[in-house]
This record gives sequence, structure tokens and C-alpha cells, in this order.
Amino acid sequence: MRVKCETCGHKALINSRNEIDPKVVDLYCTCTNPECRHYFVAKLTYSHSIAPSQLQAKEAALDYLRGLSNSERQALINQAQIAS
Ligand SMILES: [Zn+2]
Repeated sequence: MRVKCETCGHKALINSRNEIDPKVVDLYCTCTNPECRHYFVAKLTYSHSIAPSQLQAKEAALDYLRGLSNSERQALINQAQIAS
């Protein structure tokens, strides 16, 4: 991950991090430009998923299957076996 100094645009190093909550982290950064040496905090936040976690997908599939009758569940299994 790259962080740029917002003052001079040079690369900055992340010195430490402070987790504000599971989706927000403060990054304590120092600019590598010897003429600048800006020390600042950048905020890293979770935004959204592009593809769901495989852990969540499996759990969602199991929840869905549990809600089906035995015959509906068997029909899906048969379709899956035909498709593979
Ligand atoms: Zn700088």
C-alpha cells in the first residue's frame, strides 16, 4: 500500500497504526522527502465488497438449503450433479 504526502506528493512511510474500529484504521505516516518530513495521519476505511467472502457465501448457501423441503433440496443437488 502506498501513501503519499499531501503536502509535497512524495512517498510516505507508515510508522504505526491505530485501529479505531474493525473498519477504520488511522495510519501514522512520515514523508520521505528530507526537505519536508511531514508527519501526518491518513485514514484507512473499509468501503464495500466486490465479491462476497467465501465464508459468507457458504453460510448463506447453507441457510438457504436449510429453508428448503427435502424434495426441493434433492432437486438442487441433482441439478448440481448434472451441471458438473
Ligand atoms: Zn512531504
